[in-house]
Amino acid sequence: MEVEKTQNEERSLNFIEQIVEKDLAEGVNNGRIQTRFPPEPNGYLHIGHVKAICMDFGIAEKYNGVCNLRFDDTNPAKEDTEYVETIERDIRWLGFKWGQIFYASDYFQQLYDLAIMFIKQGKAYVDEQTAEQIAEQKGTPTEPGVASPFRDRPIEENLRLFEAMQRGEIEEGKMVLRAKIDMANPNMHFRDPIMYRIITSHPHHRTGRKWNVYPMYDFAHGQSDYFEGVTHSICTLEFEVHRPLYDWFIDQFSGPNFCGLSPYGPDYRPKQREFNRLNITYTVMSKRKMLQLVKEGLVAGWDDPRMPTVCGLRRRGYTPQAIRTFMDKIGYTKVEGMIDQGLLEHTIREDLKETAPRVCAIFDPVKLVITNYEGGVSETLVAENIDGHPELGTREMQFGRELWIERGDFLEEADNKFYRLSPGGREVRLKASYIIQATGCEKDEDGKITTVYATYDPNSKSGTEGGNRKTKATINWVECKSALDAEVRLYDRLFAVENPSAEEGDFRDLLNPDSLEVKTIKIESALRCELHEPVLKDGIEQENHYQLLKQGYFVVDPDTTSDHLVLNRTCSLKDNYLK
Ligand code: ATP
Ligand code: MG
Repeated sequence: MEVEKTQNEERSLNFIEQIVEKDLAEGVNNGRIQTRFPPEPNGYLHIGHVKAICMDFGIAEKYNGVCNLRFDDTNPAKEDTEYVETIERDIRWLGFKWGQIFYASDYFQQLYDLAIMFIKQGKAYVDEQTAEQIAEQKGTPTEPGVASPFRDRPIEENLRLFEAMQRGEIEEGKMVLRAKIDMANPNMHFRDPIMYRIITSHPHHRTGRKWNVYPMYDFAHGQSDYFEGVTHSICTLEFEVHRPLYDWFIDQFSGPNFCGLSPYGPDYRPKQREFNRLNITYTVMSKRKMLQLVKEGLVAGWDDPRMPTVCGLRRRGYTPQAIRTFMDKIGYTKVEGMIDQGLLEHTIREDLKETAPRVCAIFDPVKLVITNYEGGVSETLVAENIDGHPELGTREMQFGRELWIERGDFLEEADNKFYRLSPGGREVRLKASYIIQATGCEKDEDGKITTVYATYDPNSKSGTEGGNRKTKATINWVECKSALDAEVRLYDRLFAVENPSAEEGDFRDLLNPDSLEVKTIKIESALRCELHEPVLKDGIEQENHYQLLKQGYFVVDPDTTSDHLVLNRTCSLKDNYLK
């Protein structure tokens, strides 16, 4: 029994967990597990990043390790503290806890010193060619590249020029520092990759004007991992081709070349591992494209509920739990693919089904008058938040003589297949309340129905003995005097095509023109509580989710004020996701 359970658990490990378990069994890095999540603070986190977050933090959690947060802030032209703050907030909201916060910019001095060491060892040179010239000389995977005319510059000259670059004496774009590796290597990344570039046009958000040279990703990332003591440097598949270079740089100062840059000694090595990135239909996740949508006002901001950003999903009504469940469902492999947005919607629907209190809301109201209900009287009914689950609480519903019902729930003339209200027709139950029968209606001069009349059976109240009487249909209602008006924002997919990134032309032309519809509806007075200050938990504002009966799942939007309730539709009730 016990053995079988272990085997089952074994089989469900993803391939990275298998690698980690093997490393642990072999005592690699003395059994230490340290990961990092390394966002560049140049945009907001999106659901693709969450896949990496769940992996990085998940491995540390599962194997008693630590996951640090490292801001990969090596390009001052695009980065900002605004992004640092939102990234931290989003990770906290997702429910993950980092060990420490690091910045690649913390290592600028160490990286610079390392570059000087490379130059002194004849492993780096200053190239004065333009970016275009360097690109032209790269060759192709089958043809070797051409050596730069500056490749064999004397070491002294390289040192002098690199120091001049850092002092700000050289104009941006005029020189770069390149590693001197192998212009014929079949791996293009080995063809003298750029280690440093000059950026003088923008101050750095943390180091200001201190630096005029900034390390490139390939020179900064592995070294940062190394300085911190990362054991498993997990990233997405596009970095697989960078891995040999990641290892090459680290080889130059670890093992036999160890020069004390890590407290973990000569045998310590960070290892890069890659998994497939997340792509989802009907959206874009490129930071450049998302920034364009925000800047051009094509969406309301980074947290527009149609955006695939963490703050957008949050405002749409996604819960951290549902997002994490989604990541478990899709898993981690080595094969790139596209995930149906329907699966994401399916996951949040399943989550909210269990937890979201139900309330009545009327989207297309018509007045119903119960003629045998005494005027001036009203009563308070009690309804379960989720039918059949008294443990999930109850709410009060005001009942009275005048109610709002859905226009579509009444037909003046109906055949016997129509089970809802029609004069002289069947008995219909008002949700969690009484049974009524329609008697007639009133219309305006255009023939539009303005009022429906009905009588109720005082002995049919839900929760009493008479409440057990069955009807073919139950309809929603909201009592007129106590009803609240609410603005509902009905969101749909942001793009009209499945894979906007694969289409030719401008991606902005592919936006779904019907991705937002705004309406004013009538809703139960129970939601009056939402007009107060939002509730904080651990300093984070809590979202409140509801199922508006027959309409979908909704979340209270932060635009809500003390006299204006705003609800965003998270998803409809119907699940079209095909497993
Ligand atoms: P860019 O490099 O264009 O600024 P990026 O999406 O790579 O954007 P980073 O901030 O560098 O953004 O990403 C941080 C981490 O998130 C990286 O380890 C990266 O591999 C991972 N990541 C980014 N996008 C995805 C995705 N769609 N699926 C899974 N992981 C992702
Ligand atoms: Mg990146």
